[in-house]
Amino acid sequence: MTDWREALPLNIERICIERGAVRVAFSDGHEGRFEGKWLRDHCPCGLCRRVGPPVRAPAPSKMVPGWDAALHVRWADPNGPHESRYAAEWLRARCPCCQPA
Ligand SMILES: [Zn+2]
Ligand SMILES: [Zn+2]
Repeated sequence: MTDWREALPLNIERICIERGAVRVAFSDGHEGRFEGKWLRDHCPCGLCRRVGPPVRAPAPSKMVPGWDAALHVRWADPNGPHESRYAAEWLRARCPCCQPA
């Protein structure tokens, strides 16, 4: 028998933008807080992941998050706008408060 919770894909219920960070409420009832700078550094897109070390952009001047099963953030990078997509599962696995110290 499988837990119905495990059968459902993880979603993002709502987000709350704080100063320089985004608070994300997951559909499993957990809430995590993600720093904007951390999110920018961990952009999973092919462009940012293409070469060696991650692109170190300055802290975002503007975050425009949207969400469904993923968090979308638009960044005002110095060299042009950039958009990141973070899947709910991906974020949940990296929730800062759930990481071992
Ligand atoms: Zn990127
Ligand atoms: Zn957590």
